[in-house]
Amino acid sequence: MSAESPGERRGGFRAFFASALRPKKSRQVLRKGFSASTPNLREGLQSKNDIPEMPSLAPLQAHRLKYREENLQKDTQLGETRDHTAMLHAIGVGDLDPSDPNAQLTEVDNRPPGEPMIASITWNLWAKVAEYLNPAERASLAFSSKTLFTRLGPEPWKTLNLPENHNYKGDFLISQDKLLPHHLLCFPCGKYHRRIQEGREKLQPADVVNPLFVCPNARNSARPAPRHRITHGRVLYFTFYQLVMRAYRFGPQYGISPDSLSRRWRRDGWSHQTRYHIHQGHLLMRVVSTCFADPGLSVSQQRMLLYSRDDYWPYFSACAHWRDGELMNVCKCALSHIPSPRDTGGLQGLEHRAKDIYHGRAHNPNALTSLCGKCRPMRRCPECPSEYLVEVKLTEDRNNANTNMFRQAIVVTRWSDLGDGRSSRLSKEWAAINGDEAGEGYDSFTMMGKRSISGTFESAFTDDTLPGQRIISMNPKGKKLGEAGNNWY
Ligand SMILES: [Zn+2]
Ligand SMILES: [Zn+2]
Ligand SMILES: [Zn+2]
Repeated sequence: MSAESPGERRGGFRAFFASALRPKKSRQVLRKGFSASTPNLREGLQSKNDIPEMPSLAPLQAHRLKYREENLQKDTQLGETRDHTAMLHAIGVGDLDPSDPNAQLTEVDNRPPGEPMIASITWNLWAKVAEYLNPAERASLAFSSKTLFTRLGPEPWKTLNLPENHNYKGDFLISQDKLLPHHLLCFPCGKYHRRIQEGREKLQPADVVNPLFVCPNARNSARPAPRHRITHGRVLYFTFYQLVMRAYRFGPQYGISPDSLSRRWRRDGWSHQTRYHIHQGHLLMRVVSTCFADPGLSVSQQRMLLYSRDDYWPYFSACAHWRDGELMNVCKCALSHIPSPRDTGGLQGLEHRAKDIYHGRAHNPNALTSLCGKCRPMRRCPECPSEYLVEVKLTEDRNNANTNMFRQAIVVTRWSDLGDGRSSRLSKEWAAINGDEAGEGYDSFTMMGKRSISGTFESAFTDDTLPGQRIISMNPKGKKLGEAGNNWY
């Protein structure tokens, strides 16, 4: 580093040549040019007093020392002071959000009792109030205090028990979930049943008999237990979803952890992997489905690969709206991009091999597959919180005895937000994904906005990183033909 000041370099040509032999030649020339073109400044610097004194330390080092001195008392790298007393007060009972269902509100209620005020209103006025409520809300109102119970009479309970109000009965009963850790609400019965595998509940394939409670409606096909189809032979029963969300909301004795639902399995040449994560009170699910695919498949071969012959559903996981829109076309488009193995014989093969040697790479007949603008972006179902990403990846084929262990595979990843798990009706996301009546009118783009389920999910697991993806609608034209349409096949 040159330590000399501009003042010392005013020696004309001799000094210039002397300094020109220094290693940082460019710097010297720059300085000369600078001082020559700004004579006024040079004049100003002539007197010895004006020369700025060199600091004893390099500026960065000085800054570091100063910073360390200033932040010695602070706890974090960013310099904030951690006052543990203040932190404890900040998370104390007084600051709990009353709308948060997880908050353990133990604050003493100092308000005067409201019973006399409730009692001062005549019973027919209360009856008028109750008219504005649905049967579940009416029962909740009657259940809230003894005075209200006597004011409203037995009518709310009788109404709730009517067969046509079966759904409302479920809505009311689920509000008592916290009081019953050893029971589980059965929606087909509208009753709490005792858990018979408490703490040992294990999600099994759909064909395994695995009752979580003794239920008279277990074999009643007219009242099937709510479930969500993941793939062929795999479903997520609502009871398991209930258990996970209860454990999250109230405590581990109420259910099971979301990790205990994760599974890996193979079927019909496809391998599947599920994983679950709870984010802000909602259960998120990811299903990764993989199948090896040969290049240059014909249209009928593509269909053979994607659809089951049994029920013409895709082998990979899909929401209830998969027939509408572009999802299947996107898969077929991705399959069409799988490159054919290169011709290794003849003159062209020789040329390829020469190029490979020149670029110093091993010859790989299944190099990277690049997808197009249609099949590369992530797709979101407009009618339910589901997102899909179709990829073609070079995947190890462990079943293949051939020397070439890596083959191209189509990978369809689905992320879904299953909702808060209160009931199959009250959790709008669950109802929307299953295409149920209660989920009608769900608009995923309005509900989620710029947030993506995939982004939220992947950011929760540091081992899985997802490149930023553009998300476009799975059904941009909004046509809803379902099975009647032919676009899906
Ligand atoms: Zn039951
Ligand atoms: Zn494409
Ligand atoms: Zn959907």
